[in-house]
Amino acid sequence: MKIHEYQGKEILRHFGVPTPRGLACFNVAEAVTAATELGGAIWVVKAQIHAGGRGKGGGVIVAKSLDEVRVAAQTILGMHLVTHQTGVEGQVVRRLLVEEGAQIEREYYLGMVVDRESQRVALLASSEGGMEIEEVAKHTPEKIHTLRIDPVFGLGETDAAHTARQIGIPEASIAAAVLVFQGLYRAFVEKEAMLAEINPLVLTAEGKVIALDAKFNFDSNALFRHPEITAYRDLDEEDPAEIEASKFDLSYISLEGDIACLVNGAGLAMATMDIIKLYGGNPANFLDVGGGATREKVTEAFKLMLKNPGLKAILVNIFGGIMKCDVIAEGIVDAVREVKLTVPLVVRLEGTNVDLGKKILADSGLPIISGADMADAAQKVVAAARGQ
Ligand code: ADP
Ligand code: MG
Repeated sequence: MKIHEYQGKEILRHFGVPTPRGLACFNVAEAVTAATELGGAIWVVKAQIHAGGRGKGGGVIVAKSLDEVRVAAQTILGMHLVTHQTGVEGQVVRRLLVEEGAQIEREYYLGMVVDRESQRVALLASSEGGMEIEEVAKHTPEKIHTLRIDPVFGLGETDAAHTARQIGIPEASIAAAVLVFQGLYRAFVEKEAMLAEINPLVLTAEGKVIALDAKFNFDSNALFRHPEITAYRDLDEEDPAEIEASKFDLSYISLEGDIACLVNGAGLAMATMDIIKLYGGNPANFLDVGGGATREKVTEAFKLMLKNPGLKAILVNIFGGIMKCDVIAEGIVDAVREVKLTVPLVVRLEGTNVDLGKKILADSGLPIISGADMADAAQKVVAAARGQ
């Protein structure tokens, strides 16, 4: 689960990482009030969306008067902000962060990710802050320094200071940088993040080290332990189909293709997407209805798949292990009757009570195409999607 920059900065401050003072705002009047409350002479008005690259896209504006704050807020709020992470339609801006302008001396990059290979949290640091780290990794990988942190000992002062020196933080600010590195690491571990990024981490004119940006992505499987993080969720930033799916406890991810698939079990769902691809089709989604799918769940799953305007065909691929094929067949028949099927439907059933399941589908009189096995079903659904 992703959160906004201003929320990330709240977390950082909690772990002792300095950030500019700032306030979140939802309208222009609030933005002007926030700037007045913050005081000072320079403010930065920042679009809050769950994507990076806002600066380049025009979503970060420096203001030198309250009037400029007002104009900046008017410009940014409601805009379709397009960045390299949003896709072409962009993301509508509904929230702002108004914060004090920092006097930037130098910009660095600091990130943390879970490194599966070493089974540790990897700290990534670079002297090349403020730009896309992917570009730095591509063109000058030697400028990214990686430190894999021992989970038992944590991030020690010596290691942190070494990395801070590697990226060129001046000697007088090393102690401050160490506190930032350690604070980010504690936040990462305690809140169970999967990714954290401070880009840029800046050195100010007075030698302070502060986080000018904050990005977090949390492990959704750990959220039940962190209600304070769940409270940060912003549904406006998420895919409506995925939100709908989560209400019914369906694992659903929208994809770009035109063949929807409904499968029980994540592994089988992955294999189903693979085999659709193998026969030249493109999956429209990943959808795992789980081991104990009920009739309601199957119906909701059909509704979700049918909402996709580009949909050409549906493939249902069920292995009846715990779930019996006759139960799932009844669910499919009910769902199809309820939702008015507008595209061809191919069903492949295997497992417990498969013959009974197939009979229920055949007796229903519905135009359901039966797949003998996975390969047959995949070929049939790809052909159906092409109108063959
Ligand atoms: P994004 O990564 O989405 O473009 P950032 O928060 O990194 O957004 O802001 C982009 C750039 O704007 C930063 O690299 C920095 O140069 C400038 N900036 C952001 N916040 C401030 C601030 N409080 N004071 C001064 N400059 C800022
Ligand atoms: Mg940034």
